[in-house]
Formats: sequence, C-alpha cells, structure tokens
Amino acid sequence: MLGPPGVGKGTQAQQLSKEFGIPQISTGDILRDAIQKKTVLGEKANTFMSRGELVPDKVMLGIIQETLFSEHAPEGYILDGFPRTVAQAMGLQKLFEEHNDTLSAVLSLEADENQIVRRLSSRRTCQNCNALYNLLTMPPKIEGKCDVCSGELYQRNDDRIETIRNRLRVYKQQTEPLIGFYKSLGVLKSINASGLPEEVQKNIIGQLED
Ligand code: AMP
Repeated sequence: MLGPPGVGKGTQAQQLSKEFGIPQISTGDILRDAIQKKTVLGEKANTFMSRGELVPDKVMLGIIQETLFSEHAPEGYILDGFPRTVAQAMGLQKLFEEHNDTLSAVLSLEADENQIVRRLSSRRTCQNCNALYNLLTMPPKIEGKCDVCSGELYQRNDDRIETIRNRLRVYKQQTEPLIGFYKSLGVLKSINASGLPEEVQKNIIGQLED
C-alpha cells in the first residue's frame, strides 16, 4: 500500500487483510509497539517519528527482513507503510529475488491534501489492538472505546497538526518517487481514495480483480 500519511492505507489494509485472510504488516505499528515496550529499536525510532521524519533505511530493511523472511514469516501479506524510500524499495526487490518471492500489486492511494490533513487530525487508534477510527467518517460506537476489544482510543503523537505538515513534506520528497518506480515495474494500481472507506475498498477489489 502506497500513499501519503492519512490517505487510508491502514484502514484499507485492515479490511483487505480480513477479506483475503492474509496478515497486514504495518511498519508504523511495529515501531509504535517497540516504543511502547521501550526496546532499543523503540528508543531509536521515537526520535525520528516524533518529528515526523523517516526512520533510517537500514533499520527498516532489518525489520522487514526479520518479519517477512524469517522462519515464521507468513506466505502472503499486505505491506502497509513499507517501502517509503527508493532505497527501501530496491532493498525489498533484492530480498524478493533472494527468496524467490514476487510482488503481486502496488496500490497507490490518492486523495487531496486538505482532505488528508482533516482525516489525520480526526484519526484515533486503539491502544490495545491498533484498530483505526475516524471521528468524522468512522467513529467508534462508544466514545473513546474500541468497538473490537473495548481498548482505550488515543490520538497518535505524530497526528498533531505541526507534525502532519512535516510528514506530508517528507512523503512528497522521499516516498512519492516510488509511484514512478513501481509504474516502471508494471505493478502499480492507482486508487481514488477520496470516498468513504467502503467505496475505496470496492475500488481496490475491482482493480485487483482486473
Ligand atoms: P505510519 O504508521 O505508517 O504512518 O508510520 C508512522 C511513522 O513511523 C512514520 O512517520 C515514520 O517515522 C515511521 N515509519 C513507518 N514506516 C517507515 C518506513 N518504511 N521507513 C521509515 N520510517 C517509517
């Protein structure tokens, strides 16, 4: 899943994961989990994340190698939030080649920047199971509580307006070039992600079946 922060990658990946019965692997969730557990990785990542910057490529490729190509790695998966730089994308291609694996599709989610800022500032996440909500379009049934596990909902540190602007800048500079990279590999599918989550999901499934 490719696209700017707040375009709905996480929400769509969670739905696709249910639809196809394959895990969603979110590098953001992996890093937030490490921060919560105060691991060495978490401490290192926190410095970058709180400023809305990217965690270094080498660290990220290490995480991916461990998650996707270790003994207990899943057979199929939805990558959410990785790769985010050309170096990461090239590193991932190399890992695929080494393990005789292939990339089936890259979904590029697109929406207007003002809508993205509105979505991010009204996003809430479950502290316990990482389920995503949006106070405007996908509110929880009970205020402040997760529908799935009743965990507390919180606003991510980097979903505050000052950090959001920086994350969008970083996206344009470092991640947007991946659209061209994957287009040239012939695996890119552009998705209009400006509608409601159910509409975007239909759009994605339609494109995957094409
Ligand atoms: P996300 O939950 O995908 O929005 O990621 C939140 C933050 O985690 C990002 O703003 C980055 O600081 C960091 N992060 C997540 N995935 C990556 C990645 N592939 N490369 C570098 N930093 C990442």
